[in-house]
Amino acid sequence: MTQTQKTVKVLARVEFKSDSRKICYQVLSSHGADVYTTCLFDGKATGCSCPATNGKCYHRTQVEQIERIRSAPSAKSATFTELKRVYDVRQNPSTRATDLVLEAKRRQAAPLAGASRAFSLMR
Ligand SMILES: [Zn+2]
Repeated sequence: MTQTQKTVKVLARVEFKSDSRKICYQVLSSHGADVYTTCLFDGKATGCSCPATNGKCYHRTQVEQIERIRSAPSAKSATFTELKRVYDVRQNPSTRATDLVLEAKRRQAAPLAGASRAFSLMR
Protein backbone atom coordinates (compact mmCIF):
# COMPACT_ATOMS: atom_id res chain seq x y z
CA MET A 1 0.00 0.00 0.00
CA THR A 2 2.89 2.36 0.67
CA GLN A 3 4.23 1.81 -2.87
CA THR A 4 1.60 4.15 -4.28
CA GLN A 5 2.87 7.01 -2.17
CA LYS A 6 0.99 10.18 -2.89
CA THR A 7 1.41 13.46 -1.13
CA VAL A 8 -1.72 15.28 -0.22
CA LYS A 9 -1.85 18.92 -1.30
CA VAL A 10 -3.63 21.03 1.26
CA LEU A 11 -5.48 24.03 -0.14
CA ALA A 12 -7.18 25.24 3.01
CA ARG A 13 -7.71 24.39 6.65
CA VAL A 14 -11.01 25.21 8.23
CA GLU A 15 -11.35 25.27 11.98
CA PHE A 16 -14.86 25.28 13.32
CA LYS A 17 -15.44 28.03 15.84
CA SER A 18 -18.27 26.13 17.48
CA ASP A 19 -16.03 23.16 18.23
CA SER A 20 -12.26 23.46 17.84
CA ARG A 21 -11.93 19.67 17.67
CA LYS A 22 -13.71 19.73 14.33
CA ILE A 23 -11.37 20.64 11.49
CA CYS A 24 -11.79 20.23 7.76
CA TYR A 25 -9.06 20.31 5.17
CA GLN A 26 -9.59 21.08 1.53
CA VAL A 27 -7.18 18.97 -0.47
CA LEU A 28 -6.34 18.76 -4.13
CA SER A 29 -6.94 15.40 -5.79
CA SER A 30 -3.88 13.53 -7.07
CA HIS A 31 -4.74 14.39 -10.68
CA GLY A 32 -5.25 18.02 -9.69
CA ALA A 33 -8.73 18.40 -11.13
CA ASP A 34 -10.89 17.96 -8.05
CA VAL A 35 -10.97 19.35 -4.57
CA TYR A 36 -11.93 17.02 -1.75
CA THR A 37 -12.88 17.87 1.78
CA THR A 38 -11.33 15.76 4.51
CA CYS A 39 -12.70 16.29 7.98
CA LEU A 40 -11.19 15.48 11.33
CA PHE A 41 -12.67 15.31 14.76
CA ASP A 42 -10.28 15.43 17.69
CA GLY A 43 -7.38 14.53 15.39
CA LYS A 44 -9.10 11.53 13.82
CA ALA A 45 -10.31 11.59 10.25
CA THR A 46 -14.05 11.22 10.13
CA GLY A 47 -14.64 11.48 6.43
CA CYS A 48 -13.43 12.43 3.01
CA SER A 49 -15.35 13.45 -0.05
CA CYS A 50 -13.07 11.61 -2.46
CA PRO A 51 -14.35 8.51 -4.29
CA ALA A 52 -12.38 6.05 -2.12
CA THR A 53 -14.89 3.86 -0.36
CA ASN A 54 -12.66 1.70 1.81
CA GLY A 55 -12.43 4.39 4.48
CA LYS A 56 -8.65 4.61 4.28
CA CYS A 57 -7.72 7.02 1.51
CA TYR A 58 -4.36 8.76 1.71
CA HIS A 59 -6.10 12.09 2.29
CA ARG A 60 -7.41 10.89 5.61
CA THR A 61 -4.14 9.37 6.80
CA GLN A 62 -2.01 12.31 5.69
CA VAL A 63 -4.37 15.00 6.94
CA GLU A 64 -4.34 13.24 10.31
CA GLN A 65 -0.54 13.44 10.21
CA ILE A 66 -0.53 17.09 9.17
CA GLU A 67 -2.91 17.97 11.95
CA ARG A 68 -0.86 16.03 14.50
CA ILE A 69 2.31 17.89 13.51
CA ARG A 70 0.45 21.17 13.49
CA SER A 71 -1.02 20.72 16.94
CA ALA A 72 2.27 19.64 18.51
CA PRO A 73 3.83 22.84 19.92
CA SER A 74 7.44 21.65 19.67
CA ALA A 75 7.10 20.59 16.05
CA LYS A 76 5.41 23.85 15.23
CA SER A 77 8.23 25.96 16.65
CA ALA A 78 10.81 23.70 14.99
CA THR A 79 9.13 24.31 11.65
CA PHE A 80 9.10 28.01 12.33
CA THR A 81 12.80 27.99 13.24
CA GLU A 82 13.52 26.04 10.09
CA LEU A 83 11.62 28.51 7.93
CA LYS A 84 13.33 31.41 9.64
CA ARG A 85 16.72 29.85 9.01
CA VAL A 86 15.93 29.50 5.33
CA TYR A 87 14.26 32.83 4.70
CA ASP A 88 15.54 35.16 7.38
CA VAL A 89 19.21 34.35 7.84
CA ARG A 90 20.64 37.88 7.86
CA GLN A 91 18.16 39.19 10.38
CA ASN A 92 18.87 36.51 12.93
CA PRO A 93 22.53 36.33 14.05
CA SER A 94 21.90 33.20 16.12
CA THR A 95 21.36 31.19 12.95
CA ARG A 96 24.79 32.17 11.60
CA ALA A 97 26.48 29.45 13.64
CA THR A 98 24.02 26.87 12.32
CA ASP A 99 24.72 28.05 8.79
CA LEU A 100 28.46 27.69 9.29
CA VAL A 101 28.02 24.14 10.55
CA LEU A 102 25.77 23.29 7.61
CA GLU A 103 28.25 24.87 5.21
CA ALA A 104 31.09 22.84 6.71
CA LYS A 105 29.06 19.65 6.41
CA ARG A 106 28.15 20.51 2.83
CA ARG A 107 31.83 20.98 1.95
CA GLN A 108 32.71 17.67 3.55
CA ALA A 109 30.00 15.93 1.60
CA ALA A 110 30.87 17.57 -1.73
CA PRO A 111 32.94 15.08 -3.74
CA LEU A 112 34.73 17.79 -5.76
CA ALA A 113 35.66 20.01 -2.84
CA GLY A 114 39.18 21.46 -2.56
CA ALA A 115 40.20 18.78 -0.08
CA SER A 116 39.71 15.92 -2.51
CA ARG A 117 41.59 17.78 -5.25
CA ALA A 118 44.54 18.24 -2.92
CA PHE A 119 44.37 14.56 -2.13
CA SER A 120 44.55 13.59 -5.79
CA LEU A 121 47.72 15.69 -6.25
CA MET A 122 49.45 13.59 -3.61
CA ARG A 123 48.67 10.34 -5.39
ZN1 LIG B 1 -9.91 10.94 0.40
